[in-house]
Amino acid sequence: MAVTAWEVVIGCEIHVQLATQSKIFSGAATAFGAAPNTQACAVDLGLPGVLPVLNGEAVRLAVKFGLAIDAHIEPHAVFARKNYFYPDLPKGYQISQLERPIVGAGHVDILLEEGVRKRIGITRAHLEEDAGKSLHEDFHGMTGIDLNRAGTPLLEIVSEPDLRSAAEAAAYMRKIHQLVRYLGISDGNMQEGSFRCDANVSVRPLGQAELGTRAEIKNINSFRFVEQAVNYEVERQIALLESGGRVVQETRLYDPDRGETRSMRSKEEANDYRYFPDPDLLPLAIDANFIEAVRATLPELPEARCQRFIQELGLLEYDANTLTASRPLADYFEAVCAAAKCDAKLCANWVMGTLSAALNRDAISVESSPVSAEALAELLRRIADHTISGKIAKQVFDLMWQGEGRADAIIADRGLQQITDNSALEAMIATTIDAYPQQRDEYRAGKEKLFGFFVGQVMKQTKGQANPALVNEILTIKLKG
Ligand code: ADP
Ligand code: MG
Repeated sequence: MAVTAWEVVIGCEIHVQLATQSKIFSGAATAFGAAPNTQACAVDLGLPGVLPVLNGEAVRLAVKFGLAIDAHIEPHAVFARKNYFYPDLPKGYQISQLERPIVGAGHVDILLEEGVRKRIGITRAHLEEDAGKSLHEDFHGMTGIDLNRAGTPLLEIVSEPDLRSAAEAAAYMRKIHQLVRYLGISDGNMQEGSFRCDANVSVRPLGQAELGTRAEIKNINSFRFVEQAVNYEVERQIALLESGGRVVQETRLYDPDRGETRSMRSKEEANDYRYFPDPDLLPLAIDANFIEAVRATLPELPEARCQRFIQELGLLEYDANTLTASRPLADYFEAVCAAAKCDAKLCANWVMGTLSAALNRDAISVESSPVSAEALAELLRRIADHTISGKIAKQVFDLMWQGEGRADAIIADRGLQQITDNSALEAMIATTIDAYPQQRDEYRAGKEKLFGFFVGQVMKQTKGQANPALVNEILTIKLKG
């Protein structure tokens, strides 16, 4: 079959670890990093005679997500047993949801490169428990089992096959990550496995209605890897189809070291999970009062906040989008604006520029910035009232970053105020001009480019502290002679 163009189709299943103190069906702690098997109680171990008790907080967090994506909340959600055998699953089944998941159909919008918004459908989001972990590396020739993670609450968010490229898949993954962190329902920590994505990838001849056969790439834990993995998989499938082969439905793993996906298990050997409603758990009744109580706790969502920044503060869409990327960053920016009481654009430039660069360089999160929002605002007020220039402000910022104190104190101690005293500047400019008679004469003979040379000399003399507008004004007069 000669196909001129292939269309890529991707649907994602994202597992989000919910930020509860205890597990979804037991009172054991969920904290990350504890010694193996110290946070697994009888319920998590699957001992006979124990019963699961649903954690209300997990329900609340799931509903919060559902409301944020404008989804239908199921009034009678059902828990089901998903049966399979694996050493890190002592009960022999995972409690999950199949029919009647807690969160039904909803949607999110992603922003594509050209500033275009695209709506991505979310099929469902269901509650389930995580399994334990198999430790293959710590024991020679044996596998260790750590059941601390068993029973940790997960929300599995399933998208429609609406994504059309690796970049869209990454944008979608970022969007969900941003959302769950805004909502405070998960820490979204990818290194610790609190946020992982399975990408289902297929290709079809452009214009064909029927979906192609998909491969599912499991457990991708970075935005960069999702792009790499999908791109590799797309290439693989197209090459296969174009050489007359066919894609088999299977589960594949992405190996970031080799930059390729490889087969884990095919559908033929896949498990038949024999789902059935869990007889130990009643259907979960969620009433309108509960839903409204949860709705009242919703924070301002990233899109609304972004629009507010554009409308109220006059920011450009790109800047507003950058500043609302995470809630702590947006909070920081708003605190700067409130305290600085000056041009929001100046505040935006400094938060996105100098501050973010320093945070990135030193790998510090904005919450633990050594320069507080109030301290940065103080510095920006000194730019706004012309005490210092933007250039000197960068030096002051570096000193603040190094813990040398607040802006006003640094400016006063080091005498960094702009020189705005006319007579002092005039005298200095006169001497500077006299120091370069040749350039002066050439300038007067018409070589106007040399104006910049004199500005540079004066700025050097004053260590950048001269008020640039004043320097221009005085130089113009004096150079004329
Ligand atoms: P499963 O039961 O195997 O998990 P689902 O039908 O629930 O399969 O789909 C899982 C994910 O795969 C969803 O995100 C869905 O959008 C996506 N998906 C389904 N079929 C395709 C396909 N042909 N190509 C790409 N993605 C697909
Ligand atoms: Mg699946």
